[in-house]
Amino acid sequence: MRIASVLSAVKPSASMAASIAASAMKADGKDVIDLGLGEPDFDTPPHIIEAAYKAGLDGQTRYTPTNGSNALKLAILDKFERENDLLFETSEVIVSNGAKQVIFNAMMATLEPGDEVLLAAPCFGSYPDIVRILGGKPVFITCDAANGFRLTPKQLQEAITSKTRWLFINSPSNPSGAIYNTQQLRELGDVLAHYPHVGVLSDEIYEHVTFVDDGFISFGLACPELRARTLIVNGVSKAYAMTGWRIGYGAGPADLIQAMTTVQSQATSGASSISQAAAVAALNGPQDTVADFCAAFRERRDLVTRGINQISGLKLDPPDGAFYAYVDCSGWIGRATPAGKLLHNDVDVADELLRDSLIAVVAGAAYGLSPYFRISTATTNTELERAIERLRRFSNRLS
Ligand code: PMP
Repeated sequence: MRIASVLSAVKPSASMAASIAASAMKADGKDVIDLGLGEPDFDTPPHIIEAAYKAGLDGQTRYTPTNGSNALKLAILDKFERENDLLFETSEVIVSNGAKQVIFNAMMATLEPGDEVLLAAPCFGSYPDIVRILGGKPVFITCDAANGFRLTPKQLQEAITSKTRWLFINSPSNPSGAIYNTQQLRELGDVLAHYPHVGVLSDEIYEHVTFVDDGFISFGLACPELRARTLIVNGVSKAYAMTGWRIGYGAGPADLIQAMTTVQSQATSGASSISQAAAVAALNGPQDTVADFCAAFRERRDLVTRGINQISGLKLDPPDGAFYAYVDCSGWIGRATPAGKLLHNDVDVADELLRDSLIAVVAGAAYGLSPYFRISTATTNTELERAIERLRRFSNRLS
């Protein structure tokens, strides 16, 4: 079959690829530790599953409106008011099959060929590929580790051209955990105020996983004057351990939401009615598991930071949020494994960690900043301790 040329520059998700490779090795009986995939290892809380079951029995088994069931749209409005101090109308929200589809819809609805999308690297690997699939041009801005992997106003100013259509902000960030405080968001907003042709996509899916005192603030609250060109992306995948239910949502100007709804109506229609009922229970129900998950992720963050920094050649500043560690492996580059394999870059490091030490991680190349690798901390403390021990042994055997 002839495959469309646009796909030649698009890769399947690197974290999924790492996990598929790990699963294949596990199926062969190998004791692989999978630190690849970015999903909470917790189960969806039972009251959410019960709501889904009840929705099925109650006949909520038909198509919902494309942009989401009324009950879920109302729950989303309440969530924004309660947690983010933001008021939206139902015409300003859309429910999609995961946050990923919200981003896809937005880009499909707005990009013209060659339009540029600014990405603060390291960034979620799907951003550039979604942009590429839709004919846009991802523009990576390298964010310094010394500045906590945050984009600076000066960098933003220098990167904007007449073709820039969007800036993506992801706070807390996958993969670095970087969080922008109010002041830092405001400074970016001040730059954007001069460029009315640039929209902001603020991916806030990790908002509940923060380990710092001044924590998370929504871009929408920090920069209300940019509301007419801001799309907030969020979802239930990470906060409620619901990755498999596939519910994400977006909030932004009604004309954009309308266009995104048109895109979705011809692609997938509304998200699953049962999953939407579950998401209503998640957003409207008790929130204590959200804090419990965050506390567990903080403990693991501390465990991993301590462990990594005791390994020669690796460096990690404690991430401020999300459930990843973006590990600097520059001290391993140029060294050789016992099998004589020279580590030229972080792709070699990730390959050898899997082959030699049975640890699945994702190479920094997938996030636009090398030489690093990403560890997901969404696994048990015991698994993380075992992984750190293997990393230590790997490091000790390099020459
Ligand atoms: N944004 C970021 C930053 C993510 O890390 C992920 C999941 N890895 C998503 C969006 C997609 O989430 P969903 O499962 O809701 O599609």
